[in-house]
Amino acid sequence: MSKEGLFPGTTRRDFIKTCVAVSAMLGLPFSMVSKVAAAARKSDSRPAVIWLHFQECTGCSESLLRSTHPTVSNLILDLISLDYHETLMAGSGHQAEKSLHDSMLANKGNYILVVEGGIPTKDNGIYCKVSGKTAQDSLKKAADGALAIIAIGTCASYGGIQSVGPNPTGAVGVRDLVKDKPIINIPGCPPNPYNFLSTVLYYATFKKLPELDQMGRPKFAYGRKIHEHCERRPHFDAGRFARAFGDDGHSQGYCLYKLGCKGPATYANCSVLRFNDVGVWPVSVGHPCIGCTEPDLLFKTAIADKVQIHEPTPFDSYAPVDLKEKGKGPDPLTTGVIGLAAGAAIGAGIMMAKKLPDGPEKGDDHGQSE
Ligand code: SF4
Repeated sequence: MSKEGLFPGTTRRDFIKTCVAVSAMLGLPFSMVSKVAAAARKSDSRPAVIWLHFQECTGCSESLLRSTHPTVSNLILDLISLDYHETLMAGSGHQAEKSLHDSMLANKGNYILVVEGGIPTKDNGIYCKVSGKTAQDSLKKAADGALAIIAIGTCASYGGIQSVGPNPTGAVGVRDLVKDKPIINIPGCPPNPYNFLSTVLYYATFKKLPELDQMGRPKFAYGRKIHEHCERRPHFDAGRFARAFGDDGHSQGYCLYKLGCKGPATYANCSVLRFNDVGVWPVSVGHPCIGCTEPDLLFKTAIADKVQIHEPTPFDSYAPVDLKEKGKGPDPLTTGVIGLAAGAAIGAGIMMAKKLPDGPEKGDDHGQSE
């Protein structure tokens, strides 16, 4: 690999692993990995990005930037030209405002607007102001010159926690206010950084937006329910449930449905993609899914309430429900691998990427030479 187009702090192996994982997530054949990698290396394909914060906790930015592994955040920051981000930029006050104004002018019609946070609409939007302007006005102005908008996180997608009844500030998501621009929702509290990275890489590779579902979410990431590929699914199918935190069923890794798990009604790839590059996600460490990618679940349905089950029967390809290991139910690893292999090419691809050796490879030069 030549020096041109390298990402500081990212080894060649990590770069390829990430491109393999992203290609698998996007449902692309393995032969497309080189095209995705080429698009990621091309410096002239970096879209200008203006990133606005409204009613939020900055958790979406934090999850993206504080990943345990630097590859994802490095790639994202090198893939885009991040012209304005209130949390990251060194400037402040008038300097920051000028930077925003200049960037919108210089890239008019071509920049990607990323919105983090809900937008209050009550009382003329006075509940969130930056530089004397309401979030509503700032959004309208920035959206006017944008090529497309990415609403990152559940707050920007649907209003989030601010919009829970009685919704005192009249908080809404971007799609409730902007009607004349392509808008991609990447909900989650926080969303997985890979879903943002894959969306940007898809755009860089194909120069178009990925296919979206009716909620405006990329289908490659939100096309399936968490429940379909959960490692606890065989326990669900066998009727083995944890009934209280810390009880015998809970400590044996049984299904968390009766503790309020929203996995059967939540479209997201958490059970396949997982978080923090160490293979964990809430359900794997004993906490029920809270449905954070769904507009009507997160903070709007009580955590202990059970969601309706629409597909009570397991797919034929699932692990047998009586699979035993030394007198116990199926262990999470076994059932998880079986579920992934049977049901998800995406999972298989990501697993393959993760299985690439981590140790130093012969001649590994951290990307300094081909
Ligand atoms: Fe489904 Fe949740 Fe049980 Fe997993 S823990 S099988 S997502 S109900």
